[in-house]
Amino acid sequence: MNELTLHPVGRIHSPFREKFGIPRQPGLIPDVRMRLELLPPWDVPEAVTGLEEFSHVWLIFGFHAVARGQARPTVRPPRLGGNRRIGVFASRSTHRPNPLGLSVVALEEVRLVSGRAELWLRGGDLLDGTPVFDIKPYLPWAESLPDARGGFAAAPPERSPVVLAEAAEEALARDAELAALRKLIVDVVAWDPRPAYRAGATDERVYGVRIGAHDIHFRAQGDTLCILDIVPGESAHE
Ligand code: SAH
Repeated sequence: MNELTLHPVGRIHSPFREKFGIPRQPGLIPDVRMRLELLPPWDVPEAVTGLEEFSHVWLIFGFHAVARGQARPTVRPPRLGGNRRIGVFASRSTHRPNPLGLSVVALEEVRLVSGRAELWLRGGDLLDGTPVFDIKPYLPWAESLPDARGGFAAAPPERSPVVLAEAAEEALARDAELAALRKLIVDVVAWDPRPAYRAGATDERVYGVRIGAHDIHFRAQGDTLCILDIVPGESAHE
């Protein structure tokens, strides 16, 4: 059994509808909620019995939106400015020999809907539609390692200051559903999703991030990121 065929046990429903803008690790946006829909035959309540006693779970998932066959022995992680190479196995790059992701997320609720189990999660870094191949409880005594060394990513990334232009404030004021996403929108921009080589350089480009059904436009103004406006998204998915 050297080769393994994986079948999803669940699928993620996330406000992140495209890769651009998703935080680069779980927990950076602790409030963001996601639903993990379990798929038959693993959607039965028995499969999650006892899981509700855990506060966090590990998800093993597929980077399904990454083009296949692009893995290389070295990668240029954004945290190194995108210009220093390290080994793929020293990175959390999505371009890997086997496109598997690993994220620890908060488990808010195990819910039964018409007899089918679903997990409500917080803090994920996952794209909408992500296939989940396994779910395991997080074991704090074994897996919380406060003395561990964090290599080139020892410290958490830095947040950028964010301001909202008048058009963005107006869009939020017009739409209560959108207003509920205000913190999420600001958090996504604050973690500066621009390619690493742009941050720090003069960058006049307007970027768009899709959150839920909305496109958020932003631009750098020195070290500050300005949300220019928020408009209805042009397509439901990337
Ligand atoms: N915590 C995970 C992911 C790290 S990379 C791990 O270490 O394995 C994080 C990036 O993965 C996000 O910024 C997002 O752009 C990307 N991503 C999330 N879900 C994805 C998916 N289903 N397909 C491709 N890329 C995805």
